[in-house]
Parts: sequence; C-alpha cells; structure tokens
Amino acid sequence: MQRKAVALISGGLDSLLAVRVMQEQGIYVEGINFFTGFCVEGHTHAIRKKDQKKPKRNNALWCAEQLGIKLHIIDIVEEYKDVVFNPRYGYGANLNPCLDCKIFMVKKAREWMEAHDFDFIITGEVVGQRPKSQRKDTMPVVQKDSGIEDRLLRPLCARNLPPTLPEREGWVDRDKLYDFSGRSRKPQMALAKAFGFADYAQPAGGCCFLTDEQYSIKLQDLWQARGNKQYEMDDIMLLKVGRHIRPEPGYKLIISREEGEGKFLQGYRKQYPSLKTTSHAGPLCLIDGDFAEEQIEQAARIVARYSQGKNAPEVELEFRDTEGNTRLLTVPPLPPHELKKEWVV
Ligand code: SF4
Repeated sequence: MQRKAVALISGGLDSLLAVRVMQEQGIYVEGINFFTGFCVEGHTHAIRKKDQKKPKRNNALWCAEQLGIKLHIIDIVEEYKDVVFNPRYGYGANLNPCLDCKIFMVKKAREWMEAHDFDFIITGEVVGQRPKSQRKDTMPVVQKDSGIEDRLLRPLCARNLPPTLPEREGWVDRDKLYDFSGRSRKPQMALAKAFGFADYAQPAGGCCFLTDEQYSIKLQDLWQARGNKQYEMDDIMLLKVGRHIRPEPGYKLIISREEGEGKFLQGYRKQYPSLKTTSHAGPLCLIDGDFAEEQIEQAARIVARYSQGKNAPEVELEFRDTEGNTRLLTVPPLPPHELKKEWVV
C-alpha cells in the first residue's frame, strides 16, 4: 500500500529536498503552503521597480511544479493573528513567533492530514538550523503541542532524532534518510546537486517579514499608535512598502520610495487620504491615522522634501480625501534638519 505524506512547503530548498527524499522512497506527497500575510514571497518583489529584472515567481508553486506534486495554498491570515499577538513561547530576535508558528502550522497540517486520509507529515527542518524553532530541544515541543506526535518526519535530519512512526512501521527506510544539522547549507546544496536541482530559491533570513528588524519596528509602532495589537491585512501589506514617518503620535505618513511603490499606494487612495506633488515630480503619500487640519500642511511639507522640488522655495501638492475631493496646497519643503530622526519609523 502506497503511503501518503503531506509536506509543508515554504518555497525554499529544504522543503524541496525533503519531498524529493520521500518520493525516492515511493511515498506519495502533496504539499501545503500557508499564507499568513507576512510571507516574503512574491509581493514586495513584484512591487518594487529595482527588482523588475528578476523573474517573478511564487517559489512554493514553483517547487511543487519541480516535484510534480499538488500544492494546496491555505489562507490562515485571520487565525494566524492569535499566533502573532500572543505567542506562548515568545518572539525570536524580532517579532517572529517561530516556535508557536511552527506548532500552529503543523497542527493545521495535521487537521488537513486527518481530513484527507494521509499518513504523516514531512517538513524540511534541520536540527540546529534556526535558533528557536529548530533546536533539538524545541523539535519535540512542536510534535507535542501540535498533537502530531510521531507522525512528523523530518527527512533531512531524521537520523539525529528518535525514529518516527513511518520509520518504525517500515513505510520509509531510516537508513536512506539524512542526518544534517547546524547552520551550514553545504549538505543541502550537495543533495540538490545530486538530485539535479540546479535552480532553487536562495536561502534567505527567514520565511516571513516578522524576522525582519525594520518590519518588526514598524509593526510595533503600529500597535503602539493604536493602543492594541490588532491589524488588518492592508496594515501588514502597507508595512512592506514605502518610507514610514510618524510626525505625531496620532498619524503617520507612508511615502513611496519609487515608481512601483507609488503605483501600489495609489490603490489605497479610497481608504486613506493622500498627498501628491503636482509642481514637481515626487512621491505619493498616504496618511494613516487621525490628523487635524494644520497637520495636513506639516505632512505636505514633509512630502515636498522627498520630491524633486526639495530645494525650491515652494512646492505645490494635491491633497485628496477618501471621497475623492481634492484641493491644492502650496508649501515650503521641510528643510532636512527639521525632519526629526525619531519620526522615521
Ligand atoms: S520565519 Fe515566520 S513563517 Fe517562518 S517559522 Fe518564523 S514566524 Fe513562522
């Protein structure tokens, strides 16, 4: 009887290899990719112009195609908020709740596995590769808290861990699994070569924006300004884009840094009041929060500072409210020394 495994696919090299190792042993594999809203994949690369030359692809889908497996992309944006707000095991170096995140994803995958009559779960985890979620002492925590117990197999490092059910039952041959450990990627690269994978996503810092220091600072700032840890999908998308400047506690400016971002922000002009320079080329700015009339002028002066009119005596801008009503403002650009460092998020 052919056994069936469901694989957590991030789009990176490790999960790609883990699946191929299982396929070599005759296991039928389907993949799951969880969409949290914080995923690095695709989004920012697609917006910013400077990366336009790089081919755009969703690496999880691409991996599935290379492996010839079905991929289920599952939106967990709403449920995942609880993990981000209140991680039982705390955050990593930034706002990344990696251990809770892993537990949550394995738990969701377990539910999927049970509903679809699959036998076990595989991940591309390697002992010691990540400081928090992939330590020898935290790996059993994932097994226990997710309820998956010994139906979780990590083919790339299985021989460093106690035998799991698929190994004990002889569904897979433990001798043909691997014993990778530590942060070096060399064994994975060698295995990729042996399997004939020449092209794969380059290992990056983490699988999501929560590991990014700048991003975490912006998220923290948003929580602080609102007085609670809520967020909507648009909030977390906008944290990935533009320069964020908070001149007053109550509102902040999201200023595009280049054309691609400007176009992206335009899509939000019905949700946020905006400013755009008209006398000179310049960025588009969204205003998020509550502001008074006189603060529009302050905002306009800041935006003008990032336009080509930054050295001109005056710059003209269009202020637009969320109903589409517009009016013109003429302001002197803010001189650089008046832009306080602490405003920049
Ligand atoms: S980097 Fe992000 S997606 Fe990956 S385990 Fe950590 S919190 Fe989860």
